[in-house]
Amino acid sequence: MIKNLFTPMKIGALEIPNRFVVPPMVTNYCNSDGTTTERYISYYEARAKGGWGLIITEACAVDPRGRGFSFMAGLWNDSQIDSHRALTKNVHKYKTKIFLQIFHAGRQTSKKVMDMDPVAPSPIPCPVKMEMPHELTVEEIHDIVEKFGDSALRAKTAGYDGVEIHGSHGFLIAEFMSSFSNKRTDQYGGCLSNRLRFPLEIIENVRSKVGPDFPVGFRISADEFVTGGNTIVDTRAMAPILENAGINVLHVSAGCYASTDKFIPPSAVPHGNLTHLAAEMKKVVNIPVISVSRINDPMIAESLLAGGIADFVAMGRASLADPNLPRKTAESKFAEIRMCIGCEQGCLERLRADEPIRCLVNPKLGKEKELTIQPAKEKKKVLVVGGGPGGMTAAIAAAEAGHEVSLFEKSDRLGGQFYLASIPPGKGEFASFIHWQINQMHKLGVEVHLNTTATLHLIESKEPDEVIIATGAKPKVPHISGAHLQNVIFSFDVLSGKEEADQNVVVIGGGSVGAETANYLANQGKNVTLVEVLPKIAIDYEPGPRKYLLEELADKNVTVLVNSRVHSIKYNGVSVESGGIDKIFIPADSVVLAMGAKSDRELASKLKDKSYHVSVIGDAIKIRKALEAIEEGYLTGLLVSSLKSVETL
Ligand code: SF4
Repeated sequence: MIKNLFTPMKIGALEIPNRFVVPPMVTNYCNSDGTTTERYISYYEARAKGGWGLIITEACAVDPRGRGFSFMAGLWNDSQIDSHRALTKNVHKYKTKIFLQIFHAGRQTSKKVMDMDPVAPSPIPCPVKMEMPHELTVEEIHDIVEKFGDSALRAKTAGYDGVEIHGSHGFLIAEFMSSFSNKRTDQYGGCLSNRLRFPLEIIENVRSKVGPDFPVGFRISADEFVTGGNTIVDTRAMAPILENAGINVLHVSAGCYASTDKFIPPSAVPHGNLTHLAAEMKKVVNIPVISVSRINDPMIAESLLAGGIADFVAMGRASLADPNLPRKTAESKFAEIRMCIGCEQGCLERLRADEPIRCLVNPKLGKEKELTIQPAKEKKKVLVVGGGPGGMTAAIAAAEAGHEVSLFEKSDRLGGQFYLASIPPGKGEFASFIHWQINQMHKLGVEVHLNTTATLHLIESKEPDEVIIATGAKPKVPHISGAHLQNVIFSFDVLSGKEEADQNVVVIGGGSVGAETANYLANQGKNVTLVEVLPKIAIDYEPGPRKYLLEELADKNVTVLVNSRVHSIKYNGVSVESGGIDKIFIPADSVVLAMGAKSDRELASKLKDKSYHVSVIGDAIKIRKALEAIEEGYLTGLLVSSLKSVETL
């Protein structure tokens, strides 16, 4: 069924063993001086081992003044070469080829990162970073051109198989290529041919230093999705010129910082949202084309190749979520692939905060060496209470180490609140992680008991060595008059299908759960009013998913009342003090409470001073995001499994 993905293809003279590409994604795993670390090398080695044909490294700065993040890779002087050589050596233990992406941040960075003002073609701040950049002089432009060439040569010396010039996403090269950011009136600004002068000089300089046979790629934003920026009309004209200048492969992405959601889209965005741009580019060039963006399933990747949309498929976050995706595809183990769910919690949000990236579904990301599960020396009886993602992660980790694991879940379904998170529109893929966990538990022989409340008596009767409490949280009942009336239901029960709201609904609580529940109800054609005490709704949400959620609520005519406090609930509606002045009555048949949750520690409090060891994880300790609960579950599973691993945590 999967044939094209495993057919080798050449980039220039270099054969790439298959069409799976890890695209550049900044990890923040390097040292602050741009040298690589053991963590960074292990991260890429795991992907090479997993069978990816081509890795294009994270953006690697060609100049200290071109860094975009505090701990990104750099290759701006010869003393950095050895650390990069250690990376290429480790990747080359496998069949994988590795390109270095050479990069300059331009204005999309901060003085905080570099201790210097950012630079740009024109003195106009990036609409996101909002820092005034220094306008490059012609002499400074020539200097940066040389630096790109010098870094490319160092890459060749360090053992990389090729380089990719980062000409997309609104960084320096893209800034020169676009009238959105380039307002120069000299030979580097104005018409398309002048705007291409900087990238063309870079390609020429790189090629003159690395020689004719060394593969050189170019990443382009085929559409910037900003007013006045490049569109496919502009970039269709640019691509053949770049090809004639000597590049060997074109990597087709889109967007810039002002449109980040286009190139790192959340789950609400359709799969392969930029593939149409790759298809357009393929019509105008004769070199291989790489397509990228929200492609998380090998079946989709295969269909892009079969349909002639692209020659290679880059699956970025999919490679974070499961480094072994190509190997599992080759073995037709599709249900074992741990899919990226487009949550953005661990990757994009951490990067926005200039922190090392993590992954919600893959707690081992960036800790590939230290969190490897070793077979347990002594087999223990492990009992997990709670079948949410944290509890299941702990069960899987302990079972992988060879322990005898049983899991007790009081409801009739696994997944807990994470499953409920998959119910609103645009969130369906969250359920794929639950499916993966259930599948893993089955494979590892975890004994799962649904509809079973783990009482003290039951636990003691099982004579466990280790008990892991992952009982999660219960919805909070607010101190509002009328909160116990019959027309009042909880958002958890609405999303789980236990309760059904009538036609006219007021949702109280505009956090992400309340806003998503409002969207779910509006999607069923209900008239929905969402009431929030704060000035904004869904502020606990990541910016990408939040943007799409707000658009959906507006499209479906959900009435949103912010700065509004519910005074009382009646059998026929809700009385609200809005803006601190008016008291209004909103008629409603049903009232849905989404006012947060509190830790469920009832069982944990009964398990003190027992002969067995007890760990409490996730929301049962403190209400947090799923990322934390899952990581805690994994670490707890390791704690059970290997003391050596615990010491290294
Ligand atoms: Fe995908 Fe979420 Fe992991 Fe990021 S954190 S790679 S979006 S699953």
